[in-house]
Amino acid sequence: MANEGHQRKDAIIIGAGISGLCAAKLLTDSGLDVVVLEARDRVGGRTYTWVDPSVGYVDLGASYVGPTQDRLLRIAKELGVKNYRINEDERMVWIEKGKCYAHDDYYPSFWNPLITLDMNHVIREWDRIGDTIPVEAPWSAPDAEMLDNTTVKEWIEKNVWTETIKNFCRVQCELNVTAEPHELSLLFFLWYIKQCGGFMRISSTDNGGQERKFVGGAQQISIKMLEKLGQDRVKLESPVSLIEQDDQGVRVTTVQGDKYEGKHVILAMAPSMSQRIIYSPALPAKRNQLIQRAPMGSVMKCLLYYKKQFWKDREFCGSTLSVDPECPFIYSLDDTKPDGSHPALICFVAADKCRDFVHLSKDQRRDRVCQYYSIAFNSEEALQPINYVEKNWMEEQYSGGCYTTTFPPGMLTKYGRSVNRSCLTIMPALRDFWETR
Ligand SMILES: Cc1cc2nc3c(=O)[nH]c(=O)nc-3n(C[C@H](O)[C@H](O)[C@H](O)COP(=O)(O)OP(=O)(O)OC[C@H]3O[C@@H](n4cnc5c(N)ncnc54)[C@H](O)[C@@H]3O)c2cc1C
Repeated sequence: MANEGHQRKDAIIIGAGISGLCAAKLLTDSGLDVVVLEARDRVGGRTYTWVDPSVGYVDLGASYVGPTQDRLLRIAKELGVKNYRINEDERMVWIEKGKCYAHDDYYPSFWNPLITLDMNHVIREWDRIGDTIPVEAPWSAPDAEMLDNTTVKEWIEKNVWTETIKNFCRVQCELNVTAEPHELSLLFFLWYIKQCGGFMRISSTDNGGQERKFVGGAQQISIKMLEKLGQDRVKLESPVSLIEQDDQGVRVTTVQGDKYEGKHVILAMAPSMSQRIIYSPALPAKRNQLIQRAPMGSVMKCLLYYKKQFWKDREFCGSTLSVDPECPFIYSLDDTKPDGSHPALICFVAADKCRDFVHLSKDQRRDRVCQYYSIAFNSEEALQPINYVEKNWMEEQYSGGCYTTTFPPGMLTKYGRSVNRSCLTIMPALRDFWETR
């Protein structure tokens, strides 16, 4: 590619995930001249929709959207990407100790009332502490330092009485932030839940985080933004390796040696991914250390396709939650298309379960999941899938893992302020955007 240094851009945006492309769209709509540099050969980043006749389309990355994700729903509507409601009309299944328990509400009626009390206590306490954590500045919560220096595991050991609910708490860490309780700061974990609207919002399908999916897949949002921006503004297969800044502006160099000059740079990627870039001058000290201390989670999505939705014949909706340490997955949902085609179940294998799962062969992984579906839905049909698709996000070099960045103990109070502090000047158009929303 020719050296494009002579075309000085208003902004160079690094990363063509939803964040980078939204920034590009906003700035372009405001009349500014931008270029987006993307390492992969596709847009979408952690949203990735695989299209194939055997499955139609399937979201191998992010998929679900619900109330409170207003900006995402707004941009999808503007781009004409429709969504549909995930069905949870039939019974759900709780998996524990190799057995399954059908239930209609969020969790089953436990035979032991202590377990119900324990569950209610955990949910109430997590939301109560969450109420004390300011969304914009979690480090200024009244007990910020104490909460940040405590792991979720330590909290569980001190506050949870029953084995079932200890396992339930572990699964909530694995499910929501794809990490183990001993890896997580309590302040970070409860801040994360709070940002999603509280425990029931993040955990639920109806009126919660898993309420809807996009017809045709979530990556379409990025693909449609690419179409609007035009191929000239979005350069694929352009991993950035160097950012230089001086009084005149910024110069960005890709691994191939292409150079772009601009007034501003927007880094639109997970913090840990920005470690691969060399900065001249060096990043501010705290930002330099922050990006070394914010790991990505570990998750794999596994999809099993069947001739029909056999679980529905037994009045199950397909949703399961497993607190069973032996069960390979923690959560499953029906992934049949909204028109009823390609009957499928999707499950999430996260944190330590994912780190162990990668040592099995693909066939072994499929069989382990089938085995637990047959327990969950009490059906031999679960053992006869017609297709198996999986995606291991731990191996993605430009994501580093998924779904998201996690904060270990002590990190948010010491380095958190550097997360949203700009290393360069904030562009007025973006500042206005954030301040009015
Ligand atoms: C399996 C999975 C399930 C998820 N489920 C959900 C869900 O149901 N609901 C939900 O809301 N969220 C979910 N998420 C999280 C969601 O995908 C992310 O929060 C969101 O996509 C992040 O978008 P982004 O643009 O900020 O970052 P990214 O999508 O990570 O985009 C960053 C981009 O930067 C690029 N890049 C990295 N390094 C460089 C470099 N050096 N030079 C140039 N480009 C570079 C990357 O290739 C990438 O395209 C899920 C994620 C995964 C993986």
